[in-house]
Parts: sequence; C-alpha cells; structure tokens
Amino acid sequence: MAILGAGFGGLELATTLSEALGDDVDVTLIDKSDAFVFGYSKLDVMFGRTTLDAVRLPYRQIARPGVRFLQQTITAIDPEARSVTTDGGVHEADVLVVALGADYDFDATPGLIDAGNEFYSVAGAQRLGELLPTFTQGRALIGVCGAPFKCPPAPSETALLLHDYLSTRGVRGDCEITFVLPLGSPVPPSPETSQALVAAFAERDIAFIPGRRVSSLDGDRRVAVLDDGAEMPYDLFLGVPKHRAPAVVIASGLTEDGYVPVSAATLETRFPGVYAVGDVTTVGAPKAGVFAEGAARVVAKSLIANARGGEQPAPFNGRGICYIEFGAGRVGRVEVDFLSGPKPTGWFGAPSEALVEEKRHFGSSRRARWFGL
Ligand SMILES: Cc1cc2nc3c(=O)[nH]c(=O)nc-3n(C[C@H](O)[C@H](O)[C@H](O)COP(=O)(O)OP(=O)(O)OC[C@H]3O[C@@H](n4cnc5c(N)ncnc54)[C@H](O)[C@@H]3O)c2cc1C
Repeated sequence: MAILGAGFGGLELATTLSEALGDDVDVTLIDKSDAFVFGYSKLDVMFGRTTLDAVRLPYRQIARPGVRFLQQTITAIDPEARSVTTDGGVHEADVLVVALGADYDFDATPGLIDAGNEFYSVAGAQRLGELLPTFTQGRALIGVCGAPFKCPPAPSETALLLHDYLSTRGVRGDCEITFVLPLGSPVPPSPETSQALVAAFAERDIAFIPGRRVSSLDGDRRVAVLDDGAEMPYDLFLGVPKHRAPAVVIASGLTEDGYVPVSAATLETRFPGVYAVGDVTTVGAPKAGVFAEGAARVVAKSLIANARGGEQPAPFNGRGICYIEFGAGRVGRVEVDFLSGPKPTGWFGAPSEALVEEKRHFGSSRRARWFGL
C-alpha cells in the first residue's frame, strides 16, 4: 500500500500498521520533505524559544518493519488506477491513503508575502523569528486570511505569546497588538475556552476583531484591508494564509469544493481502495493533527481487520485534545467532540503549569512512537 504524506495522519497510519502487522505489511510512505515539524513548533521557532534544528524530526530516523520511506514529490494521483507518479517514478498500490494535508494559497491574499509575513510555514516562522527582534515599536497585526485554517487556536496563541515576547523585551508599552479572526469566537465549539481567551486578550490590551478576515495588504500605505472594506494600519503583519488542498490532489479529481469528501465513519473516498485522512478532507473535524491522527487510526484498524480477520473498528468520532499557549508560562486545554453528538461540543481545561508538562508529553510520546527518538 502507499501512504501519500508523512504528517500527523501518514505517520500515525504507518506506525500503527507496522506495530500490528510488522513485515506482513508493505507500506510505501512518501513525502517531499526530509523532516517532520510539529505545527506548534513553528510558534516556538518564531518566538525564539527553540531553533529549527532542534525541532526537525528527520524521516531517515524511521526504521519500522514493513515501512519504506521515500523522499519524493508527488506529481500526479490516479485514484481509479490507484497509481501515484512522483519525481522518482510510478508507484502502484492495492490501497492508497491520501494524507497530504492542507497547502497555503499565498496568492489569494494580494500583498501577503511582499508586504507582510506569514507564520504557518516553517520558512515563514523562521523569517519572523529573525524579524521579531527588530520590532520595538508600532502596530502589530495578527490576521487570518481565510477559514478553514489549521489549528484554530494557533492565532490566539500567537497574540498572547507576542504580548509576552514584547513585554520581556521591555517594549510592550510602545507596541499595539490587534488580532483579526474570521471566526465568531476563538474556539467556537467551546464557549468556555473562547471566553477565557477573550478575557486574556482584554487583560493584555490586545484588540480582538472577530468575524472578519484579511483580504489584502497594501504595502505602500501599510494597511490591511478586511473583507468588509475596513482598513487596519500595521507596522508588522503576522498572517495566517488562506488554505487549500495541495494542487496535485485537486488535479486528481478527488476533491469537491476544494477538499476531499470522505465517509465520516470510515474515511473511504468514492474510489474503491482509496482513503483520505486529515487536513486534506472535509470529514467534519477541524484541521488539526489530533484529528488527522484519529482518522488514521480508524483506517489502520480497518486494514488490520481486513488482513487478520476480526471486527471493523468503531466509526471515526472526531474527538481530540488541543493544548493552547496562554502566555505567562501556562498552557490551557480544550477537548472537543465534533462527530458523536448532534453538534460539536468542547470542554475547557484552565491554563496551568501542569498542562505545560502534558503538552510536552504530547510531543515527546509521538517523537518516540513515530521516530524512535
Ligand atoms: C502554527 C500551527 C500550530 C499548530 N498546533 C497544533 C497543535 O497544537 N495540535 C494539533 O493537533 N495540530 C496543530 N496544528 C495543525 C497540524 O499541524 C495539522 O493539522 C496536521 O499536521 C495535519 O496533519 P495531516 O497529516 O493532515 O497533514 P500534514 O501534517 O500537513 O502532512 C502532510 C504532508 O504531505 C506532504 N506533502 C504535501 N504535498 C506533497 C507532495 N506533492 N508530494 C509529497 N509530499 C507532499 C507534506 O510535506 C506534509 O509532510 C498546528 C498547525 C500550525 C500551522
């Protein structure tokens, strides 16, 4: 079988299959990158809390029975033939799992790259890591350029961490922070989490503008234009680009309305033997690693049941825990359930130092399981 993409979904799927089936499975795991980086590590790199070298997890560390990693760029997918073309050749598979994540559509927001900065790619976070030390006064604007976007709490975390960063350097009083978000609240399925974040913004004098997205930037005048035409002046723009499925997935015919529709229960696409997990889908859960991972586990269990006999797994439930940096050395937690009830529900865990440790364990347990580190 072939797993396309070695992110949260692809890594969890390959690991679970290898653990259960060992050399009885023949998995080709393909990714264009040479290393995995946790999404939240981008914030750590941007705010100088770590270096990129320290958070890159090289795929060459993967040494699992039944799994072969190929660093290749996928250039075409034929879901009917279950064949994949890469810059290294053609791969045929009996089972294909598309786990290629969400890509960024920088061109959708004129001015974003020339006149602003984004912190959602590794390169963008690294660039901002170099730029932030030079920002000592003026207006910082954190702006989201479209929804859905990965990890809905991440821009809120950025606002709170920016406050800490500027305070530590003694320049917070000379800076303004404004945060523009297309959602009605920071974490819509959990009003309690949203209230805690909005209160944290207010305590820190962070201006919060919900329900609006940034549609363009005018670099000459240093203003961001919102979707209602309002103009927001800035000296430093930190953006979340509009997302879309990778171009190769759109060209494959797997998408509808931009992303891959799947059975919410089984993650099957409309093509026999072709599954899709994670951010590339419209499964009904947010674009976050925990949900990509949960979906991958369902696919893995189903394939293991097919190979070894036994019960098919329970349907994907869209449940997961996200950790939220609240600043001041504390981390909060929101547990959300998107699919098992009539509407998405969330439970809030108040920020604490204990949750800092829990978040650290979230990362270290995956480093150990996926990479043996
Ligand atoms: C700032 C930030 C903070 C975040 N914080 C969290 C968090 O705290 N918790 C959480 O759960 N999630 C978090 N996320 C979200 C999380 O990173 C993603 O939702 C998650 O990685 C999605 O998993 P995935 O497997 O669907 O895709 P990805 O992990 O994005 O993996 C897709 C893979 O496909 C590869 N690929 C794409 N196109 C090609 C191609 N043509 N050829 C070959 N390979 C290709 C990519 O290189 C990539 O490795 C955060 C994201 C950001 C940006």
